[in-house]
Amino acid sequence: MTQNALGVEFSQRLTDNPKSAEERAAILANPGFGDYFTDHTAVVDWTADTEGKGGWHDARIEPYGPIAMDPAAAVLHYGQEIFEGLKAYRHADGSVWTFRAEANAHRFNRSAQRLALPELPPEVFIESLRQLVSVDKDWVPSGDGEALYLRPFMIATEAFLGVRPSREVSYRVIASPAGNYFGGELKPVSIWLSEHFARAGRGGTGEAKCGGNYAASLAAQLEAEAHGCKQVLFLDPFNDNAVEELGGMNVFFVFTDGRIVTPALNGNILHGVTRDSVLQLASDRGHKVEERKITIDEWHESLEDGSLSEVFACGTAAVITPIGELKTANGSFVSPPLGADSVAMAIREQLLGIQTGTVEDLHGWLTRLA
Ligand SMILES: *Cc1c(COP(=O)(O)O)cnc(C)c1O
Repeated sequence: MTQNALGVEFSQRLTDNPKSAEERAAILANPGFGDYFTDHTAVVDWTADTEGKGGWHDARIEPYGPIAMDPAAAVLHYGQEIFEGLKAYRHADGSVWTFRAEANAHRFNRSAQRLALPELPPEVFIESLRQLVSVDKDWVPSGDGEALYLRPFMIATEAFLGVRPSREVSYRVIASPAGNYFGGELKPVSIWLSEHFARAGRGGTGEAKCGGNYAASLAAQLEAEAHGCKQVLFLDPFNDNAVEELGGMNVFFVFTDGRIVTPALNGNILHGVTRDSVLQLASDRGHKVEERKITIDEWHESLEDGSLSEVFACGTAAVITPIGELKTANGSFVSPPLGADSVAMAIREQLLGIQTGTVEDLHGWLTRLA
C-alpha cells in the first residue's frame, strides 16, 4: 500500500504471469504503436453519492486483462467515455519522467464535465500513472523517439438503459510501449481534406477528448485511406472553411517571415498539450505566434504567393509531423520541400530533447514517475 497526500491508497495485486524478459525484449525491439500492453493496469472506481458512501474508491494496481462488465453498461450503449494520452520517457540515468501531466489531468476533468462524468482529483490521476509505471518500469523503452504511451480513460459502467449520467464509473490506465507513430522514418505525411464529414460542431464535444469524436472521424478516415492518406483534416464549413484540426492532431503553419499560426481554440478544437508547448517553444525561439482563424483559402493563396513555408501536425503520439501534401477532391496543396532549416524539425528536436532529458526543461514541464 502506498498512501498519497489525498489519502487515496493504491493496493497492489501483481500478475502471476508477467511477460518474460525475452518476450518483453522482443516487443520492445519493435513496439509499433498501441499493439502491446504492459503487465498491469491501474483502476479507481467511483459511485454516485447515495447513502453517504459515494466517491472514488478501491484504487488499485491489478494484472492487465479483460474487463468484466454488464452488457447493459452505459458506456456500451451511449458512449459515456473520455480518455487521455501522454507518455513516460526514460532518461539516460534510467529514471522515468512524464511531460506536463498536470495539463492532461486538468483536460481530463474538462472532458469529464462535458460528458457528465465525475472529476478525478489531479493528484489521483498523477499517482495512478506513478503507480503503474513503477510496477511496469521495465516496459519503458529507451530507444530514440520511443516512450511508454499512457492511456488513462473513464467509462460509465452502470447497467441501466435509461438515458442519464451513469452512477457507476471506472477510471483506468493502461500502458503501451510506443515507437514511431506513423511507422518507419519520419517523412512528411499526406492528409485528406474531409468535405462531407465533420468531427465536431458548435456546442458539441469537439474540445472534449472522448471516444465519440473518434468514432465520428472514422468514416472520413476511410475516405482518406482510399485516397492514400493517413489522416484527415476537418474544416468548419459554417465559418468560411476555417481550418480546425486533424482527427487526432492539431495543425500549424510556418510563414517565410517567421510567423507561426495555429487555429484559435473555438470550442471545437482539442486543447492539445503539444500545441500549447509548440506555441511556447516557438515564442521562446523568437517567432511571432498567432492563434487565429486561418481558412483553406488563405492556405491555398499563401502557398501560391510563396509566403507559406511549412505545415505540420502535432500531438503526443506522433510529436510533430510535417504535412507534405493536402489532397482534396479538386487537386492538392503541396508544401515546399522540407529544408535543413525546417522550423518544425527544430521544434520537434527541442521538444523531444526536453522530454528525454537531453535539453534543459526551462518551463518545469517534467514530473518524475519512477
Ligand atoms: C489528443 C488530441 C490532440 C493532441 O493533443 P496532445 O495533448 O497534444 O496529445 C489533438 N486533437 C485531438 C482531436 C485529440 O484527441
